[in-house]
Amino acid sequence: MLDSKKFYSKLGNMYPPSSMNSILLPKPGVKMIRFTGGSYDVPSLPMAEVKKIFEDASPAAWAEMLQYGGTAGMPSLLNELSKFMAGHKIKADPGNEIIVTTGSQEAIDLVSRVFIDKGDNILIGAPTYLQALSSFRAQYPKFVDIPIDAEGMNTQVLEEKAKKLKAQGKRAKLLYIIPSFQNPDSSLMTMERRKTVLELAEKYDFIIFEDNPYGYISFEGPMPTPLAGIDKSGRVMYTSTFSKMVSPGMRIGWITANPDFTGHMIEAKNNISICNDGLSQYAAAELFRRGDVERQIPKVTKVYRKKRDVMLEAMETSWPRKAKWEEPKGGLFLWVKLPRGFDTDALLNDSVARGVAFVPGSLFFSKPVHNYLRLNYSLPSEEDIVTGIQALGRLLKEKLQ
Ligand SMILES: *Cc1c(COP(=O)(O)O)cnc(C)c1O
Repeated sequence: MLDSKKFYSKLGNMYPPSSMNSILLPKPGVKMIRFTGGSYDVPSLPMAEVKKIFEDASPAAWAEMLQYGGTAGMPSLLNELSKFMAGHKIKADPGNEIIVTTGSQEAIDLVSRVFIDKGDNILIGAPTYLQALSSFRAQYPKFVDIPIDAEGMNTQVLEEKAKKLKAQGKRAKLLYIIPSFQNPDSSLMTMERRKTVLELAEKYDFIIFEDNPYGYISFEGPMPTPLAGIDKSGRVMYTSTFSKMVSPGMRIGWITANPDFTGHMIEAKNNISICNDGLSQYAAAELFRRGDVERQIPKVTKVYRKKRDVMLEAMETSWPRKAKWEEPKGGLFLWVKLPRGFDTDALLNDSVARGVAFVPGSLFFSKPVHNYLRLNYSLPSEEDIVTGIQALGRLLKEKLQ
C-alpha cells in the first residue's frame, strides 16, 4: 500500500476528507430534507432567460465566449458590474478596480494569498462564514474573534482587541466582515456600527474585506449600504456574487478594491485559473444588460421571505422553548441557539437518521462552540420545511428533556 501521508504538503495535510461533507452531500435514492447549504430555490432559477441569451448570441459573441479572455474578466461584464455597484453607492472603475472571480470563494482565496502571512492577526466575527475561515487557515494566521450580536459585529470589542494588539507592539492587519444578513446568523449591522468600523480601520490602520452575498436578499426595504459605499480611504475590498441572487452554478463572483490591490490579485488569479469561464461571463453580462438581474432579485427575495415565514411558523409551533432564534430580516438562514452544553455535532447523526440535515454551528467558529445550529430555508419546498422542522422539533424535545 502506498504510504500517501508522507507526500502531502503542510497545507495538503490540512485537507483530510471530511465526514461532514459526506453527511451533507446528496445521496442518490435517499430522501433527506436538507436545511444545509445556501442552494438556490430550483423553480426560481433563471433557466428561460439564460437559454434565450445563448439562442440570441451572435458569431462574434460565441468567439468571445469560447476564446481565452483577460484575467480581470470580460469587458462587457466588468462594465455591467461597475454600473450595478454604482446603484448601491460603490464606485469602481471597470478598467482597473474589478476582478471577475469564480464565485466569491475565489475572491476569498485571492485575499488569503495576497494579504495574509503566517501569524498575521486577522479579525473575524464569532461566528463567521466557514468557507472563509478554512481559506484563511491555509495561510496560518492568528484569528482574533469579535462577537456578533443582533446588531452585527460588536465594534466596542473590536476596538478593545485592536487597542490591545497595538499596546503589545502588534497590529491587526485585516478584518473580514459580512455586515448584511451575515452567514450563519443573519445579523444586520447597524449604520452606526458600519461607520465605527471604518473609523477604527483608519485609527488602527487595518484593511477591511467585506463579503456581501446577502445584502440583496433584504426582506424589509432596500439593501443596506455596504461599507464599500461609505469608505473614502481605499481600505475596503468588497466581494459579491451571483450565487445567492441569480445562480450559484454560473460561478460568477467579483471583487473590487483599489487598483494597487487588484493589480496584485490579478497576478495571483492568473496562477489559479487564468480567466473565468467565457460562457458564464457572457450570460452574466447579458442578464444584467437585459434587466433580468434586476427582476430576479425581488422575485427570489419574495420566495425566500415566504419560506422564512413558513419555517418560523413551524418552529414556533413545534420546537421546545429552550431553543432560541431571531427572525432573519434577509438572507437564507435561521441561526438557533441551544442551551450551553448541548452538542449539535452529536445531534446531526440522530437527525440524519430521521431524514433531516442541518449544519452544526461549530463549523462557524474558530474556537470550539457546540450549542448552535444553522438552518437553510432557500432550497427545501414549503412542504418539506414543515415536515423537516417538525421532525427536528420532536428530536430536540427528546434530547432537551
Ligand atoms: C454563499 C456565500 C458566499 C458565496 O460563495 P460563492 O463562491 O460565490 O458561491 C460568499 N460568502 C458568504 C458569506 C456566503 O455565505
